[in-house]
Amino acid sequence: MTRVVVIGAGLGGLATALRLQGLGCEVTVLDQRERPGGRAYQRRDGGFTWDTGPSLITMPWVLEEAFAAGGLDLHREVDLLPLDPYYRIFWDGEDRHLDFTARERMPEEIARFSGRDARAFEPFMEALRPIYEDGILGAGRRAFQTPGELVRFLPRMLSLGAAWPLHRFVARHFEHPRIREAFSFHSLFIGGDPFRVPAIYGALVYLQFLDGVWYTRGGVYSVVEAMARGVEDLRCGERVERIETAGGRVTGVVTAGGERIACDVVVSNADALRTHELLGTRRPVRPLRPTMSCLLLYLGTDRPFPKLEHHTLLVGRGYKDFIADVTRRGRLAPTFSTYVHAPSRTEPGMAANGGDSLCVLLPVPNLRGRVDWDREEERVRDALVADLETTFGLTGLDAPVRVEHRMTPVDFARELGAVDGNAFAIEPTLHQSAWFRPHNRDGRVAGLYHAGGGTHPGAGVPGVLLGAEVTAGLVAGDRGLTGRRAARAAAAV
Ligand SMILES: Cc1cc2nc3c(=O)[nH]c(=O)nc-3n(C[C@H](O)[C@H](O)[C@H](O)COP(=O)(O)OP(=O)(O)OC[C@H]3O[C@@H](n4cnc5c(N)ncnc54)[C@H](O)[C@@H]3O)c2cc1C
Repeated sequence: MTRVVVIGAGLGGLATALRLQGLGCEVTVLDQRERPGGRAYQRRDGGFTWDTGPSLITMPWVLEEAFAAGGLDLHREVDLLPLDPYYRIFWDGEDRHLDFTARERMPEEIARFSGRDARAFEPFMEALRPIYEDGILGAGRRAFQTPGELVRFLPRMLSLGAAWPLHRFVARHFEHPRIREAFSFHSLFIGGDPFRVPAIYGALVYLQFLDGVWYTRGGVYSVVEAMARGVEDLRCGERVERIETAGGRVTGVVTAGGERIACDVVVSNADALRTHELLGTRRPVRPLRPTMSCLLLYLGTDRPFPKLEHHTLLVGRGYKDFIADVTRRGRLAPTFSTYVHAPSRTEPGMAANGGDSLCVLLPVPNLRGRVDWDREEERVRDALVADLETTFGLTGLDAPVRVEHRMTPVDFARELGAVDGNAFAIEPTLHQSAWFRPHNRDGRVAGLYHAGGGTHPGAGVPGVLLGAEVTAGLVAGDRGLTGRRAARAAAAV
């Protein structure tokens, strides 16, 4: 029997645990917080419920597979509801909005901005198809443990234009500036600057048209709860302080409470830029850049804001500068581009008294930037709410707020151990992806593996679940695991 400790009950940690249990391992999951979920946490207050992090479910079949590998049936555990439109985008200064909706209806939507771009939509989708198939599906399920794997992968991506900056790739197909923004912003959901990430991340929009955008009743946290129910030994409120090694391989972990748990395998779902600290070494193998952070407002209002769809993007003027400010220049931008989640549009019970439970996400610099959050938090919050009222027509938003919570980069660092308060782990640039990302199997210590947004293939719910498959596959290969029944039979001999 292989004894495994998973450090962290984020979605990547939980999914790896379920897979390894399914392979017959004895798994203990330890998380420092009071409840599992990591970035996919939940807040409740005064009859309002908010998902603190992820809110869009894409690639539902990846969830199905993750559940099935742990012996769970997703559709018995979680109620998945399709969204239409997937989301709506408003721009400051535009009297039109754009809905992302089913593929066959998209040309009609785009035509309100540009007839030429409407005709370019299908060729654009066709250009993304091989990038999705080879770059996301093929590469996302493969471990990039050696440079050779990268060398074999790169020529195909180069020939598809997938190494181009995403916005430039999109601009080859569409001419209208709004349509270019609309088809390239998706990398922001995993912390990637659309003007710098490789176009491989353009496939994030392709996969939405392929499989839809979904909501889970009760919020994304219902997925976490279902996965957590499937983990046989999940211990929350237990922080791992040290990974113990002997002779170059892991032997166990030590918790803050001083308990030593012996094991053959450690899977770290903690921040990948921090695992070296658990090993007692001073530096990571390579210094990598963490992503930007977010300021999140969780507002419970006693009246609804019907202008908002379930998911709404509100894009301010100077969008390109806004992105550069928060990702590279380390400063707050003078304008706001935000995303708002309003789940009570689909599930009224998420808010009290017919109101809204809104989560407002503003990308902001991480803690390497020049923002003193103790001084700035209140001011930025007020300016943001005022901007939503005046620029985007959420008139009177402040007055009906009955309950409010916030999350700043300081909270990402303090509550999640996120290096520099990053919101999405390691920035998904060309030089920090695939083989260049921290590998799923650690190169320094035998028996140590990584899961979650900081390892391959990267952040996002489907990303960390695909990564869990890669990590569990490596453990299985290294330990000769063939499945729960086989392991039980072997143990019985
Ligand atoms: C605001 C926001 C919105 C997002 N929206 C979306 C979206 O709509 N769709 C989407 O697909 N993705 C979205 N994402 C991305 C997605 O949420 C993340 O990529 C994913 O949830 C990260 O999972 P993870 O496995 O990396 O674990 P994490 O969520 O990072 O969890 C790691 C866990 O490890 C624990 N831990 C760390 N160190 C220790 C230690 N020493 N001992 C014990 N425990 C430890 C932490 O407490 C934490 O619980 C969003 C992210 C954010 C922040």
